[in-house]
Amino acid sequence: MRRVRIRRVRIRRVRIRRVYPAAAACAVAACAASAGCATGQAGAGPTATPPQSNVTATARPSATASSAPSAPHTRHAPTPHRLPLAGDVIVIDPGHNGGNAAHPEIINQLVNVITEQKPCDTAGAQTDAGYPEHAFNFDVATRLAALLRKEGAKVVLTRPTDAGVGPCVTQRAEIGNREHADAAISIHADGGPPGGSGFEVIEPGLVPGYTDKIVKPSRLLGQDIRSAFHTMTDEPYSDYVGVRGLDVRTDLGGLNLSKVPKVFIESANMRNSRDAALLTSPTFRQRAAAALAAGFTAFLRGGSP
Ligand SMILES: [Zn+2]
Repeated sequence: MRRVRIRRVRIRRVRIRRVYPAAAACAVAACAASAGCATGQAGAGPTATPPQSNVTATARPSATASSAPSAPHTRHAPTPHRLPLAGDVIVIDPGHNGGNAAHPEIINQLVNVITEQKPCDTAGAQTDAGYPEHAFNFDVATRLAALLRKEGAKVVLTRPTDAGVGPCVTQRAEIGNREHADAAISIHADGGPPGGSGFEVIEPGLVPGYTDKIVKPSRLLGQDIRSAFHTMTDEPYSDYVGVRGLDVRTDLGGLNLSKVPKVFIESANMRNSRDAALLTSPTFRQRAAAALAAGFTAFLRGGSP
């Protein structure tokens, strides 16, 4: 019998784009806040007035929205004709909003964050000199969006200006789900004890039936963001909350309701004089944005930031 030589065929590894389940009926909201974000919660009780949503303009349909997001750490190396983050969708949530404090009747409405009922949103923290957290969050978010777009990513912000009210934390999570984001972040600065300083990245904890599929990829995202932020801003890990710049929480609607990899960052402590000096510096805010962009790139393309 003639011996047949079988030629070995090398099977090319096919990249599988991970599909995160569509958002379940969203019901919740929450401030990322540890002590601080919640500090600015407005005073009036809940009313029947629905929260204003100012996200329509930014939550536009995506040319890539019909395709599933790519799996973290599986991207191909960029070619000369392909920007590093081309095809990636990143949702940035600048925590709070400039009009929140003046509209307690809206933002104090309770929403279901699965593990508890929480206000729709809060006013956020501020430095002792009055620089508000919502302004810091929005400024870093817009700087970050510009950097990520330059790298080819589609970026969606959960609020288009710093002068609106809301949206509720439940809606902020829903925007990431609706956009099938490859990764998402909620940017904050804390209102912690004046003697404490540093930053922390908050990852979602396990909430059975909700965060099961995002806990692991969010942990990887959190580690990449933590490393990049620590290295590129010189900001130390928080010395009053979390462990080495990382924390896990199950009380945040923005995480509990997310179906895509997502973390929060408390960039520094607004109530600490050293941190406040950084937060009010445009140079630091640009550095923070660059660090977050590097963290996203590391997560989406693999490698160390
Ligand atoms: Zn906050």
